[in-house]
Amino acid sequence: MRFNDLRQLEDSLLIETDICIVGSGPAGLSIAREFAGTNIQVWIIESGGLEEDPDTQALYNIESVGAPRVMQQEVIRSRIFGGSSHIWTGRCAPFDRLDFQARPWIPHSGWPISREQIDPYLERAGVNLGLGPHCYDEQLWELFKVSRPTPLLDEQVLKSAFWQFSKSSKERGQPTRFGRHFMSSHAPNVNVLLHANVTHLNTNESGTRLESVEVSTLENRRGSIKAKAIILCCGGIENARLLLASNRILPNGVGNQNDTVGRFLMDHPGCVIGSFDPQRSTKVRSRFGQYWLDNSQGRHVYLQGVTLSPEIQAREGLLNCAAFLEEYAAQDDPWIALKRIRKSLKKQSKTSFPTIDQAMFWRRETPTETALAPSLYQDAMAVLGHPHIASQGIYRRLAKHRPPLPKAERIDLYCLVEQLPDPESRITLSDTKDALGMPLSKIDWKISDREMQTVRRLSQVLCQELERIGLSPPTLADWLDAKEDWQSNFTDRAHPIGTTRIAENPKEGVVNSDCQVHGVEGLFVAGSSVFPTTGHANPTLMVVAMSIRLADWLKINYFNQQGGVL
Ligand SMILES: Cc1cc2nc3c(=O)[nH]c(=O)nc-3n(C[C@H](O)[C@H](O)[C@H](O)COP(=O)(O)OP(=O)(O)OC[C@H]3O[C@@H](n4cnc5c(N)ncnc54)[C@H](O)[C@@H]3O)c2cc1C
Repeated sequence: MRFNDLRQLEDSLLIETDICIVGSGPAGLSIAREFAGTNIQVWIIESGGLEEDPDTQALYNIESVGAPRVMQQEVIRSRIFGGSSHIWTGRCAPFDRLDFQARPWIPHSGWPISREQIDPYLERAGVNLGLGPHCYDEQLWELFKVSRPTPLLDEQVLKSAFWQFSKSSKERGQPTRFGRHFMSSHAPNVNVLLHANVTHLNTNESGTRLESVEVSTLENRRGSIKAKAIILCCGGIENARLLLASNRILPNGVGNQNDTVGRFLMDHPGCVIGSFDPQRSTKVRSRFGQYWLDNSQGRHVYLQGVTLSPEIQAREGLLNCAAFLEEYAAQDDPWIALKRIRKSLKKQSKTSFPTIDQAMFWRRETPTETALAPSLYQDAMAVLGHPHIASQGIYRRLAKHRPPLPKAERIDLYCLVEQLPDPESRITLSDTKDALGMPLSKIDWKISDREMQTVRRLSQVLCQELERIGLSPPTLADWLDAKEDWQSNFTDRAHPIGTTRIAENPKEGVVNSDCQVHGVEGLFVAGSSVFPTTGHANPTLMVVAMSIRLADWLKINYFNQQGGVL
């Protein structure tokens, strides 16, 4: 793979290639990986470079006019080689079967493909993400080598939900960071163009074929790329923005003949629905929380939570919704202190990939100075001062094959809820422009009453079920009773979904089931913007699976080659 920097190439550069991938996040690099080592020439066009850069990052600014976007918008997407996988947590789960179905109680629901059709790609995606077995149900107990916890949950109401964590094969303790992973791949046919911002998609006069993309650096060095197939992989907001802003020939933008681009914007609104008393929650933390699965690739970490059963969703007209424990370790937790001691003794080399405290990140808290750097002495005292926690942890590791329970200072019950697909929840173009002269995304995000009803119902049934199975229920958050102003308790979770949704009917969506933009030959979209519904699961496993599926389709239909599993 060759890296090129547009800032150092001649002005008015013209590149001709087979495939042009715009964006190098999990979607773009998963597609590129499928073509690595073939005779198909690929150029990846990336706005960022190999290091973070505030001026490039500022191109991600937005104008928000809808439900509060409470996270700092210029921080929750990374404009860098590797995209937001630069800072992601790595939590993975596939969408449920129900998420793909047309549900009469959810307007605009239903995918033109089923979970069964996507399963082979989910397996391949799992390998790329360093995941364990493609299993997310009660069969896992056997693989964990523990017996299924009893009393069982009433499956007519609540089901177990499982997530697992991506594991880098190159960096210990990190999820797959796509940029760094891809750098060392054998891919002589793949070129990367860094610091190249795609600013316009050029179609023929009738807008029916994509001819080329225009690129510019922040210093105004320009170029264009022509390709047989051009794939937008810029993330759930930018894919729509780029289509809308490409309006020189078509005033409504490319692929927007039916006014569908940018509509149906969704996320997974996240919220704290309750909290457990850290002193009296050992049983609930033991029943849920993390499990280990060891196989030939090493140890895989799974998290167990709960989800509303398909039956209750159908019966009560609810959305999909999941809840899990979010634990905040005390600063003097002996296990974390031990990790820090080990790290400082090893004097680990600094990586350019940041590790952020995810829980604090989503709670928008800045760690205090002491939280950042307890002294070696304080850590040693934390280890020696808690023999009970340490011995309990050793017992859990050896006898239960589970990670130790840290000394917690706070235990939240966190919830991620599906959104109702709403055409009025949308991205349009702002009057404010970025440094390249492109209009910012104007985001009118909507959260409906149905999301709130769903979260309330999940909290009720979860408390009832915990009591029934003999566990202390959480203290529920007061805001769950609020009649108004409840929206500010939801956090946008950096999972923008739906703005170039798949639909067989061009009036209902932007891309067809092959992810080709309706009515625009040669133009494809990959990433969560193509999902017509959100489920409750974090999106990246599905993003990677759908990207591999698109790569297979292109191999067969554009380049006459074999796909991977078809
Ligand atoms: C803090 C954080 C934690 C997360 N944790 C999880 C998690 O645990 N599990 C999970 O599933 N997901 C998680 N996510 C979401 C996950 O990061 C995204 O789903 C994933 O990165 C999307 O991949 P993508 O390739 O579609 O887009 P991105 O990763 O956003 O990549 C888009 C790329 O396109 C480039 N680009 C954008 N515009 C242009 C342009 N005009 N020209 C050229 N290049 C352009 C960008 O620079 C970027 O490299 C998290 C996100 C954040 C921010």
